Amino acid sequence: MGRVQTQFSVLIAVLMLTGLSGCISDEMISGGGEKRGIPGGLALACLDSSKYTEIVIEVDYEEGYQPKSSSTDLLKQRLEQVCDKPDGVTITFTETVFGNQGSWTSDDVRYHAWENKENQPQTSSTLHWQVLFPSGTYSDDSVLGVAVDASTVAIFGDSVEEAKGPFFGRPSAEEVENSVLVHEVGHLLGLVNIVYQSLVEHEDPDHPNHSDNDESVMYWAIDSTSIGNIISGDLPNEFDQDDLKDLTDMKNGNVEVYDQLWTP
Ligand SMILES: [Zn+2]
Repeated sequence: MGRVQTQFSVLIAVLMLTGLSGCISDEMISGGGEKRGIPGGLALACLDSSKYTEIVIEVDYEEGYQPKSSSTDLLKQRLEQVCDKPDGVTITFTETVFGNQGSWTSDDVRYHAWENKENQPQTSSTLHWQVLFPSGTYSDDSVLGVAVDASTVAIFGDSVEEAKGPFFGRPSAEEVENSVLVHEVGHLLGLVNIVYQSLVEHEDPDHPNHSDNDESVMYWAIDSTSIGNIISGDLPNEFDQDDLKDLTDMKNGNVEVYDQLWTP
């Protein structure tokens, strides 16, 4: 595999400068002929069924970090709602030793993800996305999860545990995990405005690629450790009407969808 070349986008630089949560690693990657794309780069491959009739979500977790079944059940339900997959949405679980101690950069996530992928993302008629649940935290430890390329996200369980609410245990760590998992996979679907421009204004200008609606799972605070302080009680874990309209507009060609690794 060739040396991976990384370009940090202005977006990430801005997020770091302003100290806001940055859960999207918006980088163009190419190495050894593999096209890894950016988050949202396989959105149409999920939304459309003309080539990929099935999606498999590969969950690779470190010992003690297996996600709750409520999180993966919810993810399956949300994907079935938006992706056209006549042969189904399947989730597989593999306990994995990543061998990365402590802090994770987005490069670490990408490296260990691709070392462990059981299939190329685009294999025959099956689309493969991957979710890592490693031990340790992200390099910015206020971040609960990251989307690092077109097929890969990671959720940091230690930080999810930290993010639960201070009062009466609401939201619980399990509720935070439920929402963060759907949120990060929402970035793989291109939300919000990563690979298209919405016809509706719902992107938070202060938090690029996130919703300004605190009832959307794509709300900016969902992948931040401060979420338990910002929303007490029920966290959003659904795409809102604007998110759903964006996905429909992308699928139907009402908006241009760019940076795609596959188009119908
Ligand atoms: Zn996010």
